[in-house]
Amino acid sequence: MKIDSKKKIILLVKRNLRFLIQLLFFILAPGLFSAAFGGVKTASSLIGRGEVLEITSAILTLLVLLAFTWIFGRVFCGMVCSFGAFGDLVFTIGELVRKKLKLKKVTIPKKTEKLLSYLKYVVLVAILAICFFQGQKFIHGKSPWDAFAQLISGSPRFKRYEIGYLILFLIMIGMVLIPRFFCRFLCPLGAIFALLPPPLLSLKKFSSAPSTHRACGRCQACSSACPAGLELNKEDNPMDVVTSGECFRCMKCALVCPQKKPALYLAGKRLPLIPMVATILVLFIALLIVFGLTRF
Ligand code: SF4
Ligand code: SF4
Ligand code: SF4
Repeated sequence: MKIDSKKKIILLVKRNLRFLIQLLFFILAPGLFSAAFGGVKTASSLIGRGEVLEITSAILTLLVLLAFTWIFGRVFCGMVCSFGAFGDLVFTIGELVRKKLKLKKVTIPKKTEKLLSYLKYVVLVAILAICFFQGQKFIHGKSPWDAFAQLISGSPRFKRYEIGYLILFLIMIGMVLIPRFFCRFLCPLGAIFALLPPPLLSLKKFSSAPSTHRACGRCQACSSACPAGLELNKEDNPMDVVTSGECFRCMKCALVCPQKKPALYLAGKRLPLIPMVATILVLFIALLIVFGLTRF
C-alpha cells in the first residue's frame, strides 16, 4: 500500500473514530447519563426525607462516573453519553442543511455565552431543591431526558410525558443551531462534572519544543472545531494546560491542529492519542461490566 493511501486511511479512521465510539455506547449503555443523574436526584430526595443515604444502583453509577471523570476528564461527555451524541447528531444534520441552503452559522457573543453557561447551575440547583422538598417523583415525565429515554426505548409512551417532549423539542431547536447546546448551557450533570477538580490526565496545548510554541495561535483551527466554545488559540497559561471544566475531551482540537499541539499528558508525559483513548474506553467498559451498569 502506498504511504499516501495509508495516511488517508489513518486520517479517515481518526476522523470517524469518535462517531463509532458514540454509536457503540449508544447501543451498550444508552441510559447511563440518565441513571447517573438519577443518583443525584435519589440522594437529594433521601436527604430531604431525612433518610439514610444508601448506595442504590443510580448512586453507584454516579460515583463511578464522577471518579472516572476526575481521573480522565469529561471523556464520558465527549465520547460516551448518548444524549451528548444525540446533540452532535442533531447539530451535524443542522450543519448539512445550513450548507445546502447557504445559511450563516449562528454565533453567540463570548460574554453572552459565558452568562448562558451559568444556566446549567441554576437548573441543577432547581432540580436538587425540587427533589429535596417534593421528592423526585414530582419531576418524572417533565424531564427531557425521560422523554428521550422513552424515544430510544423502541416503544415510546406519550401519556404523562407531554412536558418532557415539549422541553426536548425546544432543546432540539437549540441543538440544531449551536454545537453541544444542551451540554454547555443546560445539563445539570455537566454542571457537576464542570465543578470537579482538574483531571489527573490533562489536556495540554503546546508541545515542549519552543520553536513550535511560537507559531501557535494563528490558525485558530482548534478553537473553530471546539464544541465547547473554548478559545484554545488564546489559552496561554504557564503550564499550557486546558484548565476549563467545560472541556468535553472530545479531542477534536488534537485532530484538526496542523502542528499536533493539543495532546493528552500524564505526569508530564505526552501520550499517543488513539491508544490512550482506546485504553480509557476499554477501562470504562470494564467498569460498567464489573458494576453491572450495561444493558446486557
Ligand atoms: S454535558 Fe450532560 S448531556 Fe452533555 S454529554 Fe455530558 S452528561 Fe451528557
Ligand atoms: S478543548 Fe479540545 S477536547 Fe476540549 S472540548 Fe474543545 S475540542 Fe474538545
Ligand atoms: S490549531 Fe494548533 S496551531 Fe492552530 S491555533 Fe490551535 S493549537 Fe495553535
